[in-house]
Amino acid sequence: MEKFDLYKLVRDNVALLQPYSSARDEFKTEGKEMIFLDANENPFNSGLNRYPDPQQSKLKQRLSQKKDIGTDKILLGNGSDEVLDLIFRAFCEPGMDNIISLPPTYGMYKVLADINNIENREVLLNHDFEPDVTAILNQVNPRTKLIFLCSPNNPSANSFEKEKILEILNNFKGIVVIDEAYIDFSEEKSWISELKNYPNLIVTQTFSKALGMAGIRLGILYASSEIIQILNKIKPPYNVNQLTQDKAEEILDSFDSIKSRVTEIVSERKVLSKALLQVEFITKIYKSDANFLLIEVDDANRRYDQLLKKGIVVRNRSKQPLCKNCLRMTVGTKEENSRLINALKELNND
Ligand SMILES: *Cc1c(COP(=O)(O)O)cnc(C)c1O
Repeated sequence: MEKFDLYKLVRDNVALLQPYSSARDEFKTEGKEMIFLDANENPFNSGLNRYPDPQQSKLKQRLSQKKDIGTDKILLGNGSDEVLDLIFRAFCEPGMDNIISLPPTYGMYKVLADINNIENREVLLNHDFEPDVTAILNQVNPRTKLIFLCSPNNPSANSFEKEKILEILNNFKGIVVIDEAYIDFSEEKSWISELKNYPNLIVTQTFSKALGMAGIRLGILYASSEIIQILNKIKPPYNVNQLTQDKAEEILDSFDSIKSRVTEIVSERKVLSKALLQVEFITKIYKSDANFLLIEVDDANRRYDQLLKKGIVVRNRSKQPLCKNCLRMTVGTKEENSRLINALKELNND
């Protein structure tokens, strides 16, 4: 097996480009009182009149401690959406390269491939919602740059087997992106600890789910410092705004209360899936490693509409491959979940 060569994967224009150098990049204050006349900002203090730190150093310091990884191996963006898009733009040549995704999975991989004019080679998960490694490796050609693995997977809720992921990491010479948006709801270990062994690995996480901060839009990407340097060249200089940086630091300082909420969601998930067993038209409840449940019902469209009439919005996934008659429901608060259960039981006789 040939050695992994990151620089062979980078688009030529990205390898050659000189990144925009912002005023705040070029000048470091080193704690002194300075007069800033370099960035054409408004001088009157509103608390937000200055551009934010383009490298989000303070926030990365805190994350670095929490996750036990160097700040040089972290990239932050405006949601996972942005960090995933940056991966496409760094490595995939429009109209030429391809990526592999594994439906049923998160819809953004395909959307980002379409936006960037990159062929999306879809290899279905098997009937246990696990990657079909042989079929995946058969789809790889010299223009295959990325493979997206979502684990725990949305919408199937399971984590992929470690062995399967390792087989892909060991046999694919492009980049493997593991999307861990739901990792904190699972008992599996994060792949972050494997970054040192796999130069072709990128792990993404988010503030949107377990950290309860979907509104601030903050996505995290962990990878080798070489990959981070390449992505840093093409990211918009001020992609994480000041309000988001401040709020995120605050959240990381109250980690204990975050953790107890995650524990509560996981225990509610267990209560909910047990209660659903009593609903006759639910034919399957898939095992979940996330903050949602995928269930199979007798008639997904009908049940979806009935729930809507009762004021409950779930996600109808029945058009996704392998998800015939499946609904996806987020684990809510105790009160929300018991309302959901009551509504479903009322429908039992319909
Ligand atoms: C919710 C979710 C995300 C989060 O995206 P953000 O842009 O960070 O809010 C990422 N990946 C998957 C699979 C998700 O379901």
